[in-house]
Amino acid sequence: MRIGSGFDVHAFGPGDHVMLGGVRVPHDRGVRAHSDGDVLLHALCDALLGAAGLGDIGQHFPDSDPTWRGADSAHFVSAAVAMLAERGWRVVNADLTVLAEAPRLGAHREPMRARIAELLNIDVDVVNVKATTTEKLGYIGRGEGLAAMASVLLGPR
Ligand code: MG
Repeated sequence: MRIGSGFDVHAFGPGDHVMLGGVRVPHDRGVRAHSDGDVLLHALCDALLGAAGLGDIGQHFPDSDPTWRGADSAHFVSAAVAMLAERGWRVVNADLTVLAEAPRLGAHREPMRARIAELLNIDVDVVNVKATTTEKLGYIGRGEGLAAMASVLLGPR
């Protein structure tokens, strides 16, 4: 078994939605990012790569590479899952947390779980998505951006 953790932050910018867990969530801001700026999938990708000892998302998909401009972050997760599979690993479970003052995520939680389970090729009941505010403290509390954390466990295929 191998464990991995991931963390990501993006600043809010102009826009009318944020991508979170592969789901389009309406909001009065967007995020500043080279790709689609999906913090949840970026944290998940780093957790997957970390568990397998494969570095981080920036090494595999550098934001200096125009290939990834506006990229669907699902691609990063799928690529990481394929790299793990080649090395004999499968995902046992994933536990994810979004840290944001807004948007509210309650209505989007189940679609996010379903999409993440699909990307990881696992049952939805071993994918957990949590959301918290930071009680108005710090950059997240001031609404300057949002963050996500991810933990995954890998087992042999
Ligand atoms: Mg990111």
